[in-house]
Amino acid sequence: MRGALGSPRLLLRRLREVMAEPVSAQERLDRIVVVIASNMVAEVCSVYVLRIDGTLELYATEGLNPEAVHMTTMRLGEGIVGTIARDAEPLALADAQLHPAYSYKPETGEEVYRSFLGVPILRAGNTLGVLVVQNRAQRNYTEEEIEALQTTAMVLAEMIASGELQALAKPGADIAVRRSLHLRGVSLADGVGLGHAVLHEPRVVVNNLLADDPAHELARIDKGVAAVRETIDRLVERGDVAHHGEHRDVLETVRMFANDQGWIRRVREVVGTGLTAEAAVERVQSDVRARMLRQTDPYLRDRLHDLDELSDRLLHALAGEHFGASREELPENAILVARSMGPAALLDYDRSRLRGLVLEEGGPASHIAIVARALGIPTVSEIAGIAGMLEAGDAVIVDGSAGDVQVRPQPDVQSAYAEKARLRAKRQEQYRSLRDLPALTLDGERISLNLNAGLLVDLPHVSETNADGVGLFRTELQFMIAERMPSTSEQEALYRQVLDELNGAPVTFRTLDIGGDKVLPYMQAVEEENPALGWRAIRIGLDRPGLLRAQVRALLKACSGRALKVMFPMVATVEEFNRAKAIVTRELSYLRKHGHVEPSSIAVGVMVEVPSLVFQIEELVRVADFLSVGSNDLMQFLFAADRENRQVAERFDPLSTPLLRALKVIHDSASAGNTPVTLCGEIGGKPLEAMALIGLGYRSLSMSPASIGPVKAMLLSLDTGAITAEMNRLLATAGDRGTLRQALAGFAAARGIPV
Ligand code: PEP
Ligand code: MG
Repeated sequence: MRGALGSPRLLLRRLREVMAEPVSAQERLDRIVVVIASNMVAEVCSVYVLRIDGTLELYATEGLNPEAVHMTTMRLGEGIVGTIARDAEPLALADAQLHPAYSYKPETGEEVYRSFLGVPILRAGNTLGVLVVQNRAQRNYTEEEIEALQTTAMVLAEMIASGELQALAKPGADIAVRRSLHLRGVSLADGVGLGHAVLHEPRVVVNNLLADDPAHELARIDKGVAAVRETIDRLVERGDVAHHGEHRDVLETVRMFANDQGWIRRVREVVGTGLTAEAAVERVQSDVRARMLRQTDPYLRDRLHDLDELSDRLLHALAGEHFGASREELPENAILVARSMGPAALLDYDRSRLRGLVLEEGGPASHIAIVARALGIPTVSEIAGIAGMLEAGDAVIVDGSAGDVQVRPQPDVQSAYAEKARLRAKRQEQYRSLRDLPALTLDGERISLNLNAGLLVDLPHVSETNADGVGLFRTELQFMIAERMPSTSEQEALYRQVLDELNGAPVTFRTLDIGGDKVLPYMQAVEEENPALGWRAIRIGLDRPGLLRAQVRALLKACSGRALKVMFPMVATVEEFNRAKAIVTRELSYLRKHGHVEPSSIAVGVMVEVPSLVFQIEELVRVADFLSVGSNDLMQFLFAADRENRQVAERFDPLSTPLLRALKVIHDSASAGNTPVTLCGEIGGKPLEAMALIGLGYRSLSMSPASIGPVKAMLLSLDTGAITAEMNRLLATAGDRGTLRQALAGFAAARGIPV
């Protein structure tokens, strides 16, 4: 059999002409199938397009019965065409009727054709349809022909994705490029956001498919690969990878692929079929994405994801520009979509237009998560391949509470979420209406409500919620989002700005709480078996006092003439507290000696979050100016249950007697020693838990901004005398009951207390 293939380059050139002709979509499609059939010396060429309902519809044919166009349909997985669409793999068959999936559609008249070659029409790994050629005689299609047909399918993918064919769809049979997707990820920041996709790093749009000079394109590939290698080497070596949210391992793997001759050879081969360098990379990337979306083995999927990232980098290198969404031209209701992102990049966007954030990578403790929460942007992460599945402008819903993302939602889904968002907004509105009411219980006890913060972007929440001040300022956040260690003067400037913005409202600074899960990208990581129990927080501060001294000095200078409240994290013994306090005293005398104006008052406190302190509490209240209970860590260490490990984090209830008794001991000892005590862990922000804390005697709580409203609503209906009596009764009679949750919920329900 003679080689039937005409020149693939000639075919592409002809197709380009057809694409430019001013004809209707159907006519264009009809001409395309004629051009392909004649170039490939095939009797039949047909285009099947995938519809939203998951069926494939014949959109155009040369050779089959024209009556079958827009009539013949098959389900995904049905027949050979359905199989190709489902598996996103080409199929070349010398005798199609022998294939187990062969199914006969009488209206097409295709029974006389023996051989069959079909390829998926792919875009960003998603199947949009199937392109088929058929021959009457039995014949074997060559690798070259399969390759040429795949390249041709790219042109059709562009045409489908452009929406041009949508006009041909029958009512209720829309084309699947607009298919709805429900994706599940990991929740990073609460809230529901509806809007339209903005790609943080938009894909390079390859407009020029056809190359005039293949040798030139090959040289461009080589140059592009070299540039990508160089960038990755630099990123790995510079070690500031965490700034980009990229993990060193990922980069190492991408680097390995960038040196993989097989992958590069594949791209070069595709250039050989007549494509430009960009189009060739996109072709190979599309295959990779199709495999990635179907891969169920997480390890292999990750590797394909790395390859996908490499393709992206190469496309950007070839385009020779920096691709980033324009921060200035962000549309209203933007849902930002990114593979990964650094916190600084997020801060560059106009917050008032952002409704949500969707990421492929980034865990709950990542820096981007911290900033997204601080900005109150509903965020979902760990959605593999999302950046490739969307076109800019697609409707997207982010449900940050459930960890769900809806892409191109159906109208009923859209309205259900709009209702959810509306209800949330209404609730927020109700909470806002409580803003100016004093935080007084029914019997007139004043409860101090404060915010947890750590970045400048957190501070406007203080006046928005009318909080009393900042009960916990996590200073490590500034360090975590920086590219390098902030200098003493940078720290001082930030602390001064915090005080200025708070305009006299009190703030409690906590010294660096790093180590454990809080790693600084520019600091040598220490491998530890048990990082939560390891070298962290005040332990680093005391062992390497340079860092702590510099921070204390920055705080003292920033607070000159104003009140300073500072506390230390992860203190396990009174002796540790005394050593840390001595650093404050020493720095203060240094500043005095150098003529600096000292703070108007200095209070040095301690986080109570290591259980050993509960058993030194009487000594502690004698030396500390105030206590702040870190219930997150206290809970983790008391029950030996990793707060970051989802399998055990919720195994024990904070409303069970061990924690409640510990909290009571802390409160009662502080009170006996006349030492102020507050609580700044997550439980302070939950109405039922906060009610229990008030029952234990706590009158000061610090929480996230969104919790102020619900907690205030609760305490406005609470009688402290009644809850105190109830807590005493429950703790005395708890026996082996375990959690007091039901009993407390019953107490609240009986009195109409919203919890
Ligand atoms: C805590 O441990 O309860 C706390 C408030 O500190 P962090 O969550 O920063 O460890
Ligand atoms: Mg803590």
